[in-house]
Amino acid sequence: MARVLDGVAIAAEIKAEVGAEVRALAAQGIVPGLAVVLVGHVAASEIYVRSKVKACAELGIASWMLTPPESVTTEEMLAMVAELNARDEVDGILIQLPLPKHVDTRRLLEAVAPEKDVDGFHPVNVGRLQSGQTGLRPCTPAGIMEILRRSGIGVEGKNAVVLGRSDIVGKPVAMLLLNASATVTVCHSKTVEIARHTREAEILVAAIGRPGFVTAEMVRPGAALIDVGINRITNAAEVARFFPGDTVRAEQFAIRNSTLVGDIHPEAFARAGAYTPVPGGVGALTIAMLMKNTVQAARARRGTGVGVEAGASVAVGGV
Ligand code: NAP
Repeated sequence: MARVLDGVAIAAEIKAEVGAEVRALAAQGIVPGLAVVLVGHVAASEIYVRSKVKACAELGIASWMLTPPESVTTEEMLAMVAELNARDEVDGILIQLPLPKHVDTRRLLEAVAPEKDVDGFHPVNVGRLQSGQTGLRPCTPAGIMEILRRSGIGVEGKNAVVLGRSDIVGKPVAMLLLNASATVTVCHSKTVEIARHTREAEILVAAIGRPGFVTAEMVRPGAALIDVGINRITNAAEVARFFPGDTVRAEQFAIRNSTLVGDIHPEAFARAGAYTPVPGGVGALTIAMLMKNTVQAARARRGTGVGVEAGASVAVGGV
């Protein structure tokens, strides 16, 4: 039987640790703070941002939500970021993506002070990750490393295959695995014969956004399967194809008219040694890691001894 890697339980563990850190900082008169910028009214982004603000409140982290209108210009956003950079009580700045097309996303992400870049997207933090130096790491990839570490799945010397090469997930998780001494292969849409690579993977991370792409015959028996994909399916025939005989899913689908499936076909889980479910796997970690990054940024900025450097080494298993 493959072991289920319970992202919800691991996220709760991390949040409890972050909560304890926040209380310790409060005793020193420090309240970590996160500013979240949400442009316009993208429904999914509004849900994500609300969850982030709620998590801050639960853990005692101060938060500010800035909600410029859809019509905001790049210059106005840059001025907002400059102001947040200058505010001492703001430790972390998160610009919820995607931004409207007319806003220059790259320029904005580069304007965030690297020490407040809790998303880990600033070129300085990307470079620090690339060169194996400590720094703020992107939340979802850092969460994947936490799942592996806290589940006792060793990385050193393993064959790890990452499907997807996005700046947000694929590339940073590949780099974290490499820094943790895995032998890493990255596959993408131009890779020829992907199954040839995936069948060698002792750790397989799928982050491509293609429902059920990885089938059982693509999986090495006993592998750890980390499914990052979040794909909403709204077609009853597809639900039956991915989850045959699963009455719980069928009931959920009947109520909501949709269900989520990852990039790994659920039939492949039977072949694995361990796997993250969708939902309840990797997705559950992202906000917990954002909270952790905010506290690390606060410690580093406010000189409380344990900074981004020490914290990041905990987050990513010594890399
Ligand atoms: P993305 O920016 O769209 O990148 C997708 C990557 O997959 C690209 O590198 C692309 O290759 C590759 N790809 C697409 N189709 C492929 C195929 N048929 N074979 C091989 N490679 C293929 O996506 P992303 O932002 O990394 O997200 C990936 C998935 O993770 C999505 O389902 C997303 O919803 C989910 N996600 C979850 C979380 C979370 O759990 N919190 C966070 C972020 C993303 P090319 O580079 O060649 O185009």
